[in-house]
Amino acid sequence: MGKVVLGVSVGVAVAACAVAALVVGRRVKSRKKWNRVVGVLKELEESCETTVGRLRQVVDAMAVEMHAGLASEGGSKLKMLLTFVDNLPSGSEKGIFYALDLGGTNFRVLRVELGGQRSDLDPDVEQQPIPEQLMTGRSEDLFDFIASSLYQFVEKANDSVQSPVTKELGFTFSFPVKQTSVSSGVLIKWTKAFAIEDMVGKEVAGALQQALARKGLNMRVAVLVNDTVGTLALGHYHDEDTVAAVIIGTGTNACYWERTDAIIKCQGLLTTSGSMVVNMEWGNFWSSHLPRTAYDIELDAESPNPNDQGFEKMISGMYLGDIVRRVILRMSEESDIFGPVSSRLYMPFALRTPAMAAMHEDDSPELIEVARILKDVLDIPDVPLKVRKLVVKICDVVTCRAARLAAAGIVGILKKIGRDGSGGITGGRSRSDVKMRRTAVAVEGSLYTQYTMFREYLHEALHEILGEDIARHVVINVTEDGSGTGAALLAASHSSSSSGSVDNIQLV
Ligand code: ADP
Ligand code: MG
Repeated sequence: MGKVVLGVSVGVAVAACAVAALVVGRRVKSRKKWNRVVGVLKELEESCETTVGRLRQVVDAMAVEMHAGLASEGGSKLKMLLTFVDNLPSGSEKGIFYALDLGGTNFRVLRVELGGQRSDLDPDVEQQPIPEQLMTGRSEDLFDFIASSLYQFVEKANDSVQSPVTKELGFTFSFPVKQTSVSSGVLIKWTKAFAIEDMVGKEVAGALQQALARKGLNMRVAVLVNDTVGTLALGHYHDEDTVAAVIIGTGTNACYWERTDAIIKCQGLLTTSGSMVVNMEWGNFWSSHLPRTAYDIELDAESPNPNDQGFEKMISGMYLGDIVRRVILRMSEESDIFGPVSSRLYMPFALRTPAMAAMHEDDSPELIEVARILKDVLDIPDVPLKVRKLVVKICDVVTCRAARLAAAGIVGILKKIGRDGSGGITGGRSRSDVKMRRTAVAVEGSLYTQYTMFREYLHEALHEILGEDIARHVVINVTEDGSGTGAALLAASHSSSSSGSVDNIQLV
């Protein structure tokens, strides 16, 4: 009897030990998995690091590349395109002007009435998404779609569509164009989600003008501009100290006001103002100082434009969500903290940047929005709070890097034109003896305007790079629909009735 009791209690003890060992084993295993995931996060943080020292290297590289791009055609990955825009709206423009804005996710049609006095502009704007099949189809279909939308818009505005008086139109086309005059230019390449083969190398304004004629719409494409140029025009309309414009939306790009004598690749370029807007196409900027990760390399390799738009792929709205998706996929493959690997994680662009921003900015204690997006968008249900926090951290790292790089780009422009307080790229003056002029930069794009954390990180980095003394002279102005409204303003200042400055531009 005693033996039996002893035997039973030994058996129970052995079983208890086995259970305990199993529990401990599981804990060790799960700690190991967690450590692996934390390792992935650490690696991400390290490779995304943007210390102020590194940002200053990016600033210098940007300024150097700007010089190189202005020195010769193909001298840099920065195209530094001439825009032939040599004057910016002054506020004295009068009349009714239209604009079309094509370049990203949405397409906008605008109509603005200018009264001749710098005032609050109140344009009529209509916006619609571009049907996806038109982004990769035939150019004629795309331009017919645009012309039809414009026709309907003019009709709705009760302006006679077939009026004998030619209406002036500003066309914002946010892709790299080799401009041949202020109102004409040839498409160099598509970026973002567009890929219409038959359009590359063709005259853009001409293609639109033909579509308008097919539709019987009496309109003249008065200016063909990049969205950044429209933004600069509107920024300058409201604030004369505006010297540059930056777009941070689906893609990213910048333009600025440059002295013509600095545009060495076009020697003898004469304009009345002595300056011209240069479209940098900064999305294609590249430097070895940019903090690049394995995810960026993968994203680039799988994109339709590998080795292109490297800066854009680290910064803009089209890509940030996809970088985050790639990090979550890697973590999910390394451990089961997200449960079985969701097939959605393999889908390119399954996680869009607005959803990523919503996770990043989820301020509920339980991170309910993060849980909802992981479940609804990525099909990853029941994620513990600890893991949800990890996801927020990933979003933070990716956005912080993007915003800080954009800030470095902006300071790069200021440096190039001697507005960063250092006395220009070759200047030897110290920061303290330079009298800094008030300098405004117009910014547009939903990534900047809608994503608070992005905006705050960008401002913080501007202050860090420039230092407080200089930063207080630099103003960032948000323009609204500048890419479109600015084009209407430029159509006004370059309309056939105005004493346009186009004739004054000479290449000698
Ligand atoms: P576009 O660049 O197409 O002219 P926008 O400037 O509106 O248009 O930018 C749209 C891009 O901005 C979207 O592709 C998206 O990536 C990003 N975006 C839009 N809303 C948000 C948001 N709330 N948070 C973060 N990013 C956003
Ligand atoms: Mg835009």
